[in-house]
Amino acid sequence: MAIERTFSIIKPDATHRNLTGAVNAKLEAAGLRIVAQKRIHMTRAQAEGFYAVHKERPFFGELTEFMSSAPVVVQVLEGEDAVAKNREVMGATNPEEAVPGTIRKEYALNIGENSVHGSDSLENAATEIAYFFKDEEIVG
Ligand code: ATP
Ligand code: MG
Repeated sequence: MAIERTFSIIKPDATHRNLTGAVNAKLEAAGLRIVAQKRIHMTRAQAEGFYAVHKERPFFGELTEFMSSAPVVVQVLEGEDAVAKNREVMGATNPEEAVPGTIRKEYALNIGENSVHGSDSLENAATEIAYFFKDEEIVG
């Protein structure tokens, strides 16, 4: 295991329901340190750029509309095995399939409005962090 950094987004469905603190409590309880965080309202173009890997998927329009519909909180999380640890505490994409105690099981509304995003690999984490943060904004 190694100390890693991963990228996280608290999605519009969660910020809208005042769940930013509740999500952060779960992340911190899992041993992840929030080393950068800001609340932003993504433009449609920013959301389309971020989710470019999904542009052929049938839900791309719905996803980018949702992610640019209201504020989100973008974050950098640091800790042992942070990429895998964050995916674990997030839970499955579909909240109906998520393990009890995970963020998505407790807070997600459905497969689209599923409260959080988390990088799925160390390589993607680096790309996603750089999409939203400058080095000097990340304070470990
Ligand atoms: P994320 O990338 O947000 O951490 P994930 O890796 O669990 O989630 P992906 O397969 O990468 O899931 O899908 C990206 C996002 O697209 C999902 O989190 C969800 O918001 C949305 N999404 C995925 N599948 C569907 C679907 N079938 N219908 C609607 N939206 C979907
Ligand atoms: Mg994903």
